[in-house]
Amino acid sequence: MTSDIITAKDLKKMDPVFGQHSFDDHEQIVFCNDKDTGLKAIIGIHNTVLGPALGGTRMWNYANEWEALNDVLRLSRGMTFKSAITGLNLGGGKAVIIGDAKTQKTPELMRRFGEFVHSLSGRYITAEDVGMTTEDMDTVREVTPYVTGISESKGGAGNPSPITAYGVFMGMKAAAKFKFGSDILEDKNIYVQGIGNVGEALVEHLVNEGANVTIADISQERLEEVRSKYGVTIYGGNDIYSEDMDIYAPCALGATINDDTIYKLKAKVIAGAANNQLAEEKSHGLILQERGIVYAPDFLINAGGIINVYAELENYDRQEIMRKTENIYNTTLEILDNAKVNNLTTHNAALNIARERIETRKRENLK
Ligand code: NAD
Repeated sequence: MTSDIITAKDLKKMDPVFGQHSFDDHEQIVFCNDKDTGLKAIIGIHNTVLGPALGGTRMWNYANEWEALNDVLRLSRGMTFKSAITGLNLGGGKAVIIGDAKTQKTPELMRRFGEFVHSLSGRYITAEDVGMTTEDMDTVREVTPYVTGISESKGGAGNPSPITAYGVFMGMKAAAKFKFGSDILEDKNIYVQGIGNVGEALVEHLVNEGANVTIADISQERLEEVRSKYGVTIYGGNDIYSEDMDIYAPCALGATINDDTIYKLKAKVIAGAANNQLAEEKSHGLILQERGIVYAPDFLINAGGIINVYAELENYDRQEIMRKTENIYNTTLEILDNAKVNNLTTHNAALNIARERIETRKRENLK
């Protein structure tokens, strides 16, 4: 889930926290430890100008603590810009729990994590991310109200993944419209890398639209399951980046667009759910621009999930969730046009608008 280009050795050379490569004026970083449950977590609060820092918790078997810290710094920063560009009154935060979600996650560990979240008095509000389920959020809810993404039966908005997938689908259609002149995805060759909660729901939209979908995942079981449900093709090669395709949809890891992959890419459009797809935002954004590959910024098109959980805080209904998520289509087209007109990378065009919204609010708050 972390950048491919920064090695643990590189990270160790830097100052422990404020000097980290991915540190970007984060407001607060909280290290949480509980010997009894084995909890080791880091909560990153990047920016709270627009509102409380909301972002999911990821449980992942990180190679070391540096990798976990780098991940939480990158992810929490991304949440700030995601909420800002989506027009939500939320700041950016994220949490990581170090460990294997399949073998080390227990209700006691989740409750203890929830107590740490509670100790921040609402500055950070959590939700699910990779390695987490709606049921885990229900467990966290037992000890703190500062959690979203809880079950519908418990008054929550439920699993955000289908909404995230719908938003990605909207962003992908907008990017197709920009690149190919039409947003109809019928007969387009689309590779979906990672067919977890979001990836599978995206596959369903694409198949319904008549796209030629190829799927890749590290789990053979998932591949077979999704193929049998939707009749898609399982990728049989060993270098997905070099394949001829119209659209590449990264829905597994971050940083898959990196020094090793970027010049191999034959895709004409990149539009997927994974957070932090560009290992290096500036240089890789620029190379994609030079190569004429249309990149739909991840933090813009994968905002469906946050729109969904935000409904729990603002009490808006399903119709409003869908309206806001559908609007990702318009925002994506605007950003892609803006990038073209101003000769910017699409990532920077999106970032500028998000930053401007935060700066405006900051000035208003000072009045
Ligand atoms: P998930 O854990 O359900 O699915 C991830 C899938 O990727 C799994 O099937 C896993 O086997 C596969 N995978 C892992 N490493 C891989 C590799 N090297 N190659 C191919 N496949 C690999 O996660 P998810 O909830 O579907 O989220 C997918 C991505 O979207 C993540 O990066 C997440 O941060 C991001 N995202 C999710 C949401 C949401 O609502 N769930 C919202 C915004 C962003």
